[in-house]
Amino acid sequence: MHQTSWMTSTILNRLSANAGMLLVRSLWDYCPEHMFIVRVEGPADFVIEAMNPTRQAMLGDEATYTGKRIEQLLPPPLCHGVIANLHRCVECASPIRYEEKGGYLDRDGICQQGHWQTLLVPITNQEGAVTHLFGVSRDMSLLPEQPVGAYSESKEFERRVHERTAELVAANEHLTHLATHDALTDIYNRRYLLELAELELRRASRYEQPLCLMMLDIDHFKKINDIEGHLAGDEALRRVARTILATVRECDLVGRYGGDEFLILMPETTATGAREIAERLRRTMTQTTPLTISIGIASLEPSDHFVVDLIHRADTMLLQAKRNGRNRIECAA
Ligand code: GH3
Ligand code: MG
Repeated sequence: MHQTSWMTSTILNRLSANAGMLLVRSLWDYCPEHMFIVRVEGPADFVIEAMNPTRQAMLGDEATYTGKRIEQLLPPPLCHGVIANLHRCVECASPIRYEEKGGYLDRDGICQQGHWQTLLVPITNQEGAVTHLFGVSRDMSLLPEQPVGAYSESKEFERRVHERTAELVAANEHLTHLATHDALTDIYNRRYLLELAELELRRASRYEQPLCLMMLDIDHFKKINDIEGHLAGDEALRRVARTILATVRECDLVGRYGGDEFLILMPETTATGAREIAERLRRTMTQTTPLTISIGIASLEPSDHFVVDLIHRADTMLLQAKRNGRNRIECAA
């Protein structure tokens, strides 16, 4: 649906002014729907400016209508509903659709009952004020009569479609979450984090903004598994993830790289800034959990083309932090 309307609008955008004019003119002349243009003179003051041939065939020649106010053409209370809808479209300054049943005067001046589905589109001037309304009306009385009960059935069908659509949207969101998040810690999974990180790297390179990558690993994590069991190990991983999320900024991207390793991508952050955040994280971890962590930091360099370049340097720094005694931070810059 989206795709189609996007494609259509792209094609329309490519039309030359002449071709666009021809398209509008053809629709106006040959479309079986009723079309009209109303000039906005005031909040409740509307003057007919034009009607297409389909509308003229039902209501009478354009000359009878052009330049006339709605209330001159339709006696009250028939004009009230029409004016209310025109007013509503001016007020919200965007297209509106509505369905109405009511009387109208045919080309012989005889009052007839009508049933219309109408789309009203506001036309604005350069200052953004709505000066005209373009209307397209479908004469519903020409459609085959609906069997008794069809209206409420179609309402019920519509309600079920809405309900089902909401369920599908929720299911889709759930699937997207599963595909992008780590099942244990609920932070980004490796694949999705790397995907986001590539975008951030390209943006930072193009605008020459700083960018840092932190690689974090829990010290002696194997011992927790061995001594307290794997469930305690799982809980420790969740706890580290929560602590990272609570410590870094909202714009930082946090993901599980694998095992007990985590990646944190920090846009618009220099090596000094990253080191401060890493130090805060290391301190919080030792103060609030029985765990210690080691962190390697790499900052973006002009020669970096892919995230793997940054990961490689951060990993080397992490190894150095481990070799230098753990519970510490090493930075490549
Ligand atoms: P170091 O300080 O050198 O990092 O030592 P370490 O014991 O942390 O060593 P390493 O990082 O290699 O250990 C990672 C361990 O994490 C090994 C693996 O059994 C465990 N692990 C990996 N994924 C999970 C998981 O999902 N849950 C649990 N409980 N353990 C995991
Ligand atoms: Mg470890």
